[in-house]
Formats: sequence, C-alpha cells, structure tokens
Amino acid sequence: MISEDGAVDYADLARELANMVHGYPYGDPFALLGWIASEVKSDPESRRGRAMTAALWASRWYARWRVTDPALIDDLIEAAGHAATVLEAAGCTAPGAHEDPQVDEDPEEAGDVVARIGDPEGWLARRPDDEDIEAYACPGFVAGLAAEAEQVLKDARAERFNAPDTAHLDERFLTADGHTDIDALMTDVERQRGSRLDPTAQSAALWAARRLLGDARPAERTSLALAVSHLAQHCAWGSAAPGVVTLYREALLTFDLSVLDRPCPHPEAHPGISLRDVPSLARTVAAGVDGGEGCPHRVAAHVRKMIDYTGGYLGVEDAPA
Ligand SMILES: [Zn+2]
Ligand SMILES: [Zn+2]
Repeated sequence: MISEDGAVDYADLARELANMVHGYPYGDPFALLGWIASEVKSDPESRRGRAMTAALWASRWYARWRVTDPALIDDLIEAAGHAATVLEAAGCTAPGAHEDPQVDEDPEEAGDVVARIGDPEGWLARRPDDEDIEAYACPGFVAGLAAEAEQVLKDARAERFNAPDTAHLDERFLTADGHTDIDALMTDVERQRGSRLDPTAQSAALWAARRLLGDARPAERTSLALAVSHLAQHCAWGSAAPGVVTLYREALLTFDLSVLDRPCPHPEAHPGISLRDVPSLARTVAAGVDGGEGCPHRVAAHVRKMIDYTGGYLGVEDAPA
C-alpha cells in the first residue's frame, strides 16, 4: 500500500477499504484505521490528507460496528474533527463552477472516491471520461465527508462503549430478602436465541454481571456467571457493544477459577457445557439439586472459555486473566 519512497498506492488502498467493509480485509483493519487517523491528523489539507480523510469516511460504518477499542474510536473522531475544521476553513475552490459529487454507500464507490482524490492521473488513465474529478478533491466537498464521519463515530462512541443502566431490574430480579431470583433472571436470559441480540436478555445478563461485581451471594455466583456466559457466547454473532462485553468479561474474571488447578473429584469426564444447556443448568445449580452436571470444575472450565472468547472479541486475549 505504501511504496519505498513513501507514496501511497491509492488503487490498492481503495481495494483494501472495500475488502475491509465487506468483512475480508487482507491486512489488519485496526492498524489500517490507526494509520489513516495519523495521516489525516498530520495534514488534512494536502492532497494526501484529503484522500486519507475520504478513506476515513469510507471506513466510518466499519469503525462504527467493528472497532472494539474505544481509544481507536477517539483517535478517529479527533482526526475527522480536525479535518472537518481545516477543510471547512479552506472552503470550495470553485464556488458555482462545480457541484459536490453524489456518492453511493457502496464500498467500491467509496474506495473510488479515495483513488480519485489521491491519484487523479492514475484514475484518469483508467477512466478518461471522468469530468468532475476535481470536484471530488475539493476541500469543501471533503470537509462534508469529514463532518459526516465525525458524527457517525461520535454516535458509535456514545452507543457502543457504555453499557445500559440496569438498576430498574432490581425490582424484577431480587427477592424480598435480597437474593437473586434465578428463575426470573434466566427467563429473561433464555430469550436470547439465534444471532440477533435480544435487548431484554442483554439487560438481564448485564444485571447479572453487575451483581457478580457487587453484592452477589456466594450461593448464587455460579448461576449468575452462567447467565452472563450465555450472552457472552452470543457477542460475536450479534455484534454486541464492546462496552457491554467488557462488563461481561470483568464480571466473569471475578469467578473463582482455582478449581481448574485441581483434578475433578470424580473419575469420569464430563461433557462441555453447550449453549442450549446454560439456562437449565443455572436453574439446577441455584436449586441445589444437581446430580453432578454442575460440577464446579465443569462450570469453571466454561467460564474460562468465555473469558478467552470475550477477550478475543475485544482484542485483549493476551491480557492476564
Ligand atoms: Zn468545491
Ligand atoms: Zn467434574
């Protein structure tokens, strides 16, 4: 993408942006976004900076839904905001002589905007009949792209990196004597089926996570951890908000995994815990009537797996558990 003399291959960049948006990036998309942010910040008014601003704009929906690191989102917001300010001040180079191009949402078209701005000669060599090419590179037009990207990313920051409040659920999930009503909790949790996130189930799991981090009674910790693990296991399929998954993971990290250092007290092996079994197992454990399926070793192994899984989703798998 960058040659030895530091020049950017914009056709290559445009292709990679489209690959990324389609979900099949050739390289590391987060590294690519970090590089784009730093390029935009350094000089948004230059041709290269305007092309990179268009690249940031072309990446905005990908960043909105796929970036799990709030620091990277902040970096992109800062870059887009800086570009919007600088390019807005520069303004249109030919008021009245050209109009802002209309661009489709299509990933390939968005990449083409980057290629047109960054390398107009290369673009015209392939498409000699493109007449309004300078309108694409116009600071006034690119300022609008930067402002749009900034807004999308600010929305992402607000919606994806905070976990919804669940205090109102105390009434639903706590008994009169202050215990967790596991049956009521799991009734909400098991609404989560398939890949589309169920907001009621997610709220229940968040409530359970906060309970684990706070006032959970020792006897209810296993069922609470299972409730959290059920939604944690759906995080990638449903593109769960990173702020929510971070809370799941923090809660699971409080679970006592020391039993994993010792062998099971029984000789026979037990199967792993399947997604389908989690709600009934949580109820069985809470009722204290399990016939071995709630073996602490088995549950701890499952929790360990979910800690690793959510760590992978958040891109923090190497963090000490
Ligand atoms: Zn213009
Ligand atoms: Zn066991």
